[in-house]
Amino acid sequence: MRAEVIAIGDELTSGQRLDTNSQWLSAELGVLGVPVVFHTTAADTLEAGVEAFRAAADRADLVVATGGLGPTADDLTRDVLAAVAGSPLELSPEALTAVESRFARRGMPMPESNRRQAVFPRGSRIIPNPEGTAPGIDLDVAGGRTRIFALPGVPAEMRTMWRDTVMPAILGMLPERATIVQRRIKCFGAGESAIEAMLPDLVRRGRDPLVGITAHEATITLRIAARGRDEAECQGKIADTEATIRNCLGPLVYGVEDDELEDAVVAAVAAAGMTLATAEVGTDGRVAALLAQAAARSPQGGCFRGGRVLPRSADAGLADALAARARAEHDAAVGLGIGPVEPMADGRGEIEVALVTDAGVERFRHMLGGGAFLAGSRAAKFAIDQVRRWALARG
Ligand code: ATP
Repeated sequence: MRAEVIAIGDELTSGQRLDTNSQWLSAELGVLGVPVVFHTTAADTLEAGVEAFRAAADRADLVVATGGLGPTADDLTRDVLAAVAGSPLELSPEALTAVESRFARRGMPMPESNRRQAVFPRGSRIIPNPEGTAPGIDLDVAGGRTRIFALPGVPAEMRTMWRDTVMPAILGMLPERATIVQRRIKCFGAGESAIEAMLPDLVRRGRDPLVGITAHEATITLRIAARGRDEAECQGKIADTEATIRNCLGPLVYGVEDDELEDAVVAAVAAAGMTLATAEVGTDGRVAALLAQAAARSPQGGCFRGGRVLPRSADAGLADALAARARAEHDAAVGLGIGPVEPMADGRGEIEVALVTDAGVERFRHMLGGGAFLAGSRAAKFAIDQVRRWALARG
């Protein structure tokens, strides 16, 4: 089976937005063992869409498309599919009820334009959209030789619909019925290529289970995908690979699945029977915000006593003094201080992080790079990760 991924939208063809949906979908199809042989990006016109889908129907058995399912006049994917399939558009009463009730739940009248989202080419199956108004379209074309799944462009909606409906449908189309189980291992504290280098032979194409690596705001995700006859066989393969990863990476691994670094920090502080307070100058309140959010989600959140945020202009002293002050102010076992941004000769900045505990002071330096927002977010994560590592070593 050969697949093609189509991304639709002027935003993409004009270069205003990067097409990350195609990248994500192709990686998912790769996990299923379905090779993707073409990526096509088409503008929001009927002609471009029809040309793209006709070509795809000629050369692929499976097409997964995103974008152009919205309610506005330039969202033409349903019209394009009707033209390619040679089927008229019909209103689906069930889909209309679903769209209407979504607006009703929010206490808003449904704009007339949203009726379009309940219209489908005759013969198509509707892909429910639990997170938005635009349902997707699952349709056979080219005399049944090619199956098209059209999903909305909004990445979160697309991913949910893929996982809930499209992926299971594709698994059902595969000649040998296989089960796929995935697990994500979350890491912090080293770059993507450094982590890859620490996992010899693991991140290799064609390996079983497959291990993929992605980075987002300095957090690295390793995704293990195992194929097997049943769930138990897949889980066994995943357990072996996960053990190898944990052995190689040690404390760089902080969690699994949707775990965030700050949740792991709060959990580690609580597990060590400690309490934590912070004071920050160079990170604009990000440290306090991360920890306060994690504390609110955790039954052990009380271990975070509070955080003081000082403006960058404050003459607050260095990281040590901040940490000691936070610790004393909140009567906490651990004080975390993040000092001011210190300009460096090459124009970048550096900040100092200090941990004050009953064992004394530990200092760490973090170089800021990667744009103002990313630099701040990375620096905050770097700072709280020092607490996690310290608590792990103590606990
Ligand atoms: P909606 O129901 O929101 O109108 P839609 O199917 O019409 O969904 P689009 O209008 O094409 O989707 O895109 C909605 C938003 O999703 C875009 O503004 C963009 O932020 C994002 N998006 C669309 N396509 C992609 C893509 N290929 N990669 C990443 N993001 C995308």
